[in-house]
Amino acid sequence: MNSTICFERAQKIIPGGVNSPVRSFSSVGGTPPFIDRAKGPYIYDVEGNQYIDYIGSWGPMILGHSNDAVVNAVIAQAKRGLSYGASCELETTLAQLISANVPSIKKIRFVNSGTEASMSALRVARAFTNRDIIVKFSGCYHGHADALLVEAGSGALTCQTPSSPGVPASTTKHTITLPYNDIAALITAFESIGSDIAAVIIEPIAGNMNMVKPQAAFLTTLKSLCDQHRSLLIFDEVMTGFRVALGGAQALYDIQPDLTCLGKIIGGGLPVGAFGGREEIMALLAPEGPVYQAGTLSGNPMAMTAGIATLTALTRPNVYAQLTNKTKQLMAGIKDQARTHNIALQTSSEGGMFGLMFTDRPVHSLQDVQAANLARFNRFFHYMLKHGHYFAPSPYEAGFMSLSHQDQEISQTIQATGQFFAEENQ
Ligand code: PMP
Repeated sequence: MNSTICFERAQKIIPGGVNSPVRSFSSVGGTPPFIDRAKGPYIYDVEGNQYIDYIGSWGPMILGHSNDAVVNAVIAQAKRGLSYGASCELETTLAQLISANVPSIKKIRFVNSGTEASMSALRVARAFTNRDIIVKFSGCYHGHADALLVEAGSGALTCQTPSSPGVPASTTKHTITLPYNDIAALITAFESIGSDIAAVIIEPIAGNMNMVKPQAAFLTTLKSLCDQHRSLLIFDEVMTGFRVALGGAQALYDIQPDLTCLGKIIGGGLPVGAFGGREEIMALLAPEGPVYQAGTLSGNPMAMTAGIATLTALTRPNVYAQLTNKTKQLMAGIKDQARTHNIALQTSSEGGMFGLMFTDRPVHSLQDVQAANLARFNRFFHYMLKHGHYFAPSPYEAGFMSLSHQDQEISQTIQATGQFFAEENQ
């Protein structure tokens, strides 16, 4: 077997050969490796090539691939049933684990993806406020629900379909997009339409346009404007939840949103999403209230089990200090190499999440990310992949560290970046 044949076969039956666009390498070109297996920090393709993985399934694999505790728990649960379509105690256990660590979440509902989480959070926010307008930020991605597919990040950027065909203009006419980190634009928007804004949805650390942190006062201004105008603040922590800190970005910045969207890590690698927050908002959901939302596989025992095992491991002492050190070590090493070889590079990191941008200017918005040296990123990506380091195949994605990455893998990667930077200078 080789990846080229696999990709050709897949393209005949699956659009673009993939079930999620970024996997096709459309941004960087070339043939994506087809994966055979993964263990710890390593992922192996069908040709037997080994890669140190900095994608981690786009976030969920924070403990490393095929973690023994998670796998054993999942195997044990599989023998007791894959899905019941009825309530089980595991749902309450995971809900309690999440709420204990993300205290703004008083009540939570599980869904099957991050897309569903943000789509459903918008519905309940609109019902609660009895308003229609949603504000989002350019370069933030909240899944592929119609109303949110406006100036979205991630694959929507590299596909050149920021507003996808198939999304009726009438669906997005209530969606307003503002630049990230632009306090003046926020104030102006609230001054003109504040009383019509149902909710503002934001990635509190943006991870779908590389990695862009909120500047001082951006989130606090947003929070107070929302409070002032009785608009709901929705933190989309599908990526940052249990990733940048145990309590997510809201713990880091000490801001309590009205609603939070989660996904990825809370399912330990199985399909999951969740949204939760203030009790009186969540009480509007059926069957407690009139806002309809449902799912055949929602809260299924397999995803709940993988999530419980993952969060249990993450709630042990010092886990986030370790994770942060690993990420910092990688960033410091790569920066050092860049300095030695005179390569303009900005890095960003928090907990187990990082960003690399080839520019000498600070990066605060989508525009700044787009102004970086994207051609150099492509060369970087291919060089690293060829030498056994699997970074995200797009300059608009963040990187992910796992607890299974050890000094050895991290220093190998740093060394390889040094070799790439040296070649760039020849
Ligand atoms: N929100 C954010 C912040 C995300 O990063 C993603 C996916 N990367 C989503 C929502 C959508 O999640 P899913 O792919 O599970 O639908």
